[in-house]
Amino acid sequence: MGMALLLIHTDRFAEHQTPPGHPERPERAEVMDVVADRCRVRGAEIVAPRAATREQLLRVHESDYLRRISETTGRAVKLDPDTYTSPESHEIALLAAGAAVDAVERVMSGSPHAALALARPPGHHAERDRAMGFCLFNNIAVAAAHARANGIAKVAIVDYDVHHGNGTQHLFESDPSVLYVSTHQFPYYPGTGAAGEVGLGAGRGFTVNLPLEVGAVDEDYQTVFSAVVLPVLRQFKPGLVLVSAGFDAHERDPLGGMRLSTGAFAAMTMDLRTVAEECCDGRIALITEGGYDLHALAASLEAVADMLNGPVDPTSWPVSGIASDRGSAAVKATTRALAPFWRF
Ligand SMILES: [Zn+2]
Repeated sequence: MGMALLLIHTDRFAEHQTPPGHPERPERAEVMDVVADRCRVRGAEIVAPRAATREQLLRVHESDYLRRISETTGRAVKLDPDTYTSPESHEIALLAAGAAVDAVERVMSGSPHAALALARPPGHHAERDRAMGFCLFNNIAVAAAHARANGIAKVAIVDYDVHHGNGTQHLFESDPSVLYVSTHQFPYYPGTGAAGEVGLGAGRGFTVNLPLEVGAVDEDYQTVFSAVVLPVLRQFKPGLVLVSAGFDAHERDPLGGMRLSTGAFAAMTMDLRTVAEECCDGRIALITEGGYDLHALAASLEAVADMLNGPVDPTSWPVSGIASDRGSAAVKATTRALAPFWRF
C-alpha cells in the first residue's frame, strides 16, 4: 500500500502586507487552493492547521523574540529589509509553525507516514531571536525540536530550497542529534552555507553544506544527492526525515538562478522517501519554504505529492543534457570538509 498524504494548509491565510512586486503576493493562496484540491481528489487528507504553542516555539526561539512578534498583532511592521508583517501575520506564523508540528505528530503516529505541510510564511531563515528573509518562526526547526522532545533520537533535515537555511543551521549546529543537509546556490543570499561550515563542538560533522554555483541543472543535483546526501543520511540513520521543501531552484523561478526541472523535485523527494523507508518506516514530512513562480510551484508541489502518495519506485532523475560540473565541484568541496566524519 502506498503512503497516505497529508496537506496542512496555511497558505490561504498568508496574505502578508507586501509592496508591489513582492514575491510573497496574495495570488499564491489561490494557487495553493488548486494544489490542495487536486491532492484531495487523489486521496490526500486535508487538515486545517492548529497554532503552535508557546512551549513548542520556545524550544528554538527566545521568549523576548516571541513577545516582539506577538506585539506586531494588528499592525504592519517592517522587521527586516525583506520581512514585513500584516495585522494577521503573528496568527498566520503560529499556524505555519503549528502545521509543521502537526505534520510531525501525524507521521510519528504512524498513519499516514508521509506529510506535506503547505506553510506560509516560510521558516528556514528565521534565527533564534530574529526574523529574516520572509521568515518569522523557523517552522522546520520547531518541527525537529518537537520530534526530539517526543522521543525521536535522531532527526535529519534536508533543505533543497535555493537559499541556505541559515536559521536552521545555527539552531542545530552544536547538536549531533539533528543532522542538517542543505543544497543551495552559493555565493548567494543569505551568505552562509560554505562547505567548510560543518557544525560546532559535539555537532561537528552534522552540518552538511553543498554549495552550488549559479546555473546548476538536474544532473548537478543528482550528483550531489547520490554522492553526499544519500550516503550521509544512510550512515546517520534518522528516526524521522524532515524536508525544507523550497521550489525556488526551479528554472522558472524569478529569484533563484538554478535550472531545475519540475521532475528534479519529484526525483529528490523519491530519493529522500526511499531513505526514509530504509531508516525509519518511511516517516517523512515536507514543510514548504520558498518558490516564487506560481506555475512552477504548483507543478512541483503536485509532482512531489505524487511521489509521497504513490508506491516507492526506483528514482528516475530527469535528463537536461546540459553539461555542467557544478555538482561535482560541490561534491569535491563538501567531501573534503566532511571526510573526518562520513564515508563517501
Ligand atoms: Zn528560498
